[in-house]
Amino acid sequence: MKGPVYGKVFNIQRFSLNDGPGIRTVVFLSGCPLCCRWCSNPESQNHNRERAERCDGESMSGKRYTPQGVLAEVEKDRCFYEESGGGMTLSGGEPLQQHAFCMEVLRQAGEAGFHRTLETTGHAPEDTFRQMLSQVDLLLFDLKHWQSERHIWGTGVGNELILKNLCVALQQGMPLVVRIPVIPGFNDSREDGANMASLLSRMGVQKVELLPFHQLGEKKYEQLEIPYAMKGVGQLHPEDLQGYEALFRAQGLCCRTD
Ligand code: SF4
Repeated sequence: MKGPVYGKVFNIQRFSLNDGPGIRTVVFLSGCPLCCRWCSNPESQNHNRERAERCDGESMSGKRYTPQGVLAEVEKDRCFYEESGGGMTLSGGEPLQQHAFCMEVLRQAGEAGFHRTLETTGHAPEDTFRQMLSQVDLLLFDLKHWQSERHIWGTGVGNELILKNLCVALQQGMPLVVRIPVIPGFNDSREDGANMASLLSRMGVQKVELLPFHQLGEKKYEQLEIPYAMKGVGQLHPEDLQGYEALFRAQGLCCRTD
């Protein structure tokens, strides 16, 4: 007989207003195949997880959950979802690193009547990605750079698979928002903004959210005793991105800064 499916979750955040419609519970899953220079959750990156386990004798890499355990947490705020049009969001890390667990959480959430949003890097085998689409109501699809070489520089992986999966989601008519973290010295130039906007418009994307660079994860690098590439880099604020946002609007995209 098949045993229960377990997953590793490094945080469950209630009352989130920024990760899909309405009031949401966000489940952050451990494990990510990318290693973004600006990552605010370095404990979730695959190559840091062993260190995160050891840190201060208390694991930073997460706790083991069953799907039922996750759903019990999500259930606590059902009345707020109903009032606000909210629900559950799976995020990470990259949720699809724990594909079987996520599929089961999403399936049970659907049965319980929760709206299901998935935030993904899109960096997953196409088959896995396709399967998951059937269990999701909204995708928050992260894209870091339009150019693969620069994508590798910033995240450790190219963007080919990511763009392919974005195409798959668009072809299936999946409701989605592309999220772009705007990072100083990486993708914040007018040229990068214009190229990103042009690419997304040609692909048929309609909605884009810009996420200004912040320093909320800086302390974690100290705790994990790993170097932080963005140390001392100034944060961006929504007002800094007005010109960048306009580049997307000029391509007919609905664009806002979170
Ligand atoms: S995709 Fe997100 S979680 Fe993964 S390394 Fe990049 S910023 Fe961190």
